[in-house]
Amino acid sequence: MNCELLVEGAAVLSLDPEWRIFEPGYVAIKSGAIVGIGPGAEARRWEPARRLGGADSLVMPGFVNTHTHVSMAAFRGASEDVEDRLARFIFPLEKRLVKRDLVREAALFCLVEMAKSGTTTFADMYYFEDEVAAAAKRAGLRCLLGETIVDFAAPDAAEAYGGLDYGLRFIEDFRGDPLVTPCLAPHAPYTVDAEHLSLVARESARLGLPWMMHVAETLPEARRFGASHGSTVKYLDSIGALGPGLLAAHAIYVDDADVEILARRDVSIAHCPASNAKSGRSIAPVWKYREAGLRCGLATDGPISGNGMDMQGIVGLYPKLQKVLTGRRDLVTAREALRAATLGGAETLGMGALTGSLETGKRGDLIIVSIDDFNLRPVYDWYATAVYAMRPHNVRSVLVDGRLVVDEGRMTGIDEAECLERMRGISESCRGEIARILGERS
Ligand SMILES: [Zn+2]
Repeated sequence: MNCELLVEGAAVLSLDPEWRIFEPGYVAIKSGAIVGIGPGAEARRWEPARRLGGADSLVMPGFVNTHTHVSMAAFRGASEDVEDRLARFIFPLEKRLVKRDLVREAALFCLVEMAKSGTTTFADMYYFEDEVAAAAKRAGLRCLLGETIVDFAAPDAAEAYGGLDYGLRFIEDFRGDPLVTPCLAPHAPYTVDAEHLSLVARESARLGLPWMMHVAETLPEARRFGASHGSTVKYLDSIGALGPGLLAAHAIYVDDADVEILARRDVSIAHCPASNAKSGRSIAPVWKYREAGLRCGLATDGPISGNGMDMQGIVGLYPKLQKVLTGRRDLVTAREALRAATLGGAETLGMGALTGSLETGKRGDLIIVSIDDFNLRPVYDWYATAVYAMRPHNVRSVLVDGRLVVDEGRMTGIDEAECLERMRGISESCRGEIARILGERS
């Protein structure tokens, strides 16, 4: 049988419902889709145009990063270690510096890091999200992109709530795109009023699209809605904003009743352990969400919040912090962690039938990892190796929709040197304003 690509590996981790691992194994890809997967001995029935991987390779689904703000790569490392950073630094900074060009160039820059470390699908919320869409298409990554809505003038909307109209136009422009799913992204319950939140929930349901928002992320938010409604989750439930379309980022400050409400409303969770830890926040009780049957994915958060945009920095931290939270070593297994970083994430984006695992009929989104390296050998348990030992530099090639977006460590659709050079220019143009805002703060 003919196929375009035959990807072979010492191991192929399918992450399918039976948790099948083929040692060795193969994946055959044709017209962007997986047309065959199985033990290596059966690979010879295929006649591929090109062979990838080999005996020194681990083949697995690409990572799904469920919450990012990729264009904030322009500000990575600015204003660390200060209290109330969002209101005192980030909002003023965005007001002065975030322009269409910066969003496009910084997004492209950030996607290089993400793709080269093995992320094949990501969810993003920011301003000028059509520019992020263009960057994602150029990089060749699959994505769910939400245009930000806030109750004040934003970089791409002169009026409060202008993001709603911008977002609806964005949705119209990108609906049906094979890689980009456009949607709405109200910033948070404390920056978008009840009326607009209900409106976004209704509009998204009417359009059959997910929507995303920061939920129960900060202590001031928890105190405010705790005083008025018992909790942020109870407030959102009281205004009809919770439903299966909502991808809630963070969801840290919740009680057991909130977990039960989120489960009943069938909400999805994007867990950002590294950025939450860096902000001095609590650890979201993801083990409780999983026991309640909620869909949970993992995320880096933006480059200014989590800094590293590789999922290797997240997939191992997730089980470690859940163990710290509960004192239980057996709580989140490596296998469950890897599922959360791949198929679990795809499910939270409404893409579970499309990507996240290696199964016949799904899209060809996978990564080839070199296993002959000093940080990976020996291998006794592929899941433990992938979750706790793998580092970004081990990723060799990346396929999205059956297309090589990273080939032997190099981006195929982006000039990396040019991208680095442009980021040097962006950071030089931002440096003065960043210093001024930090000066005004002190
Ligand atoms: Zn965020």
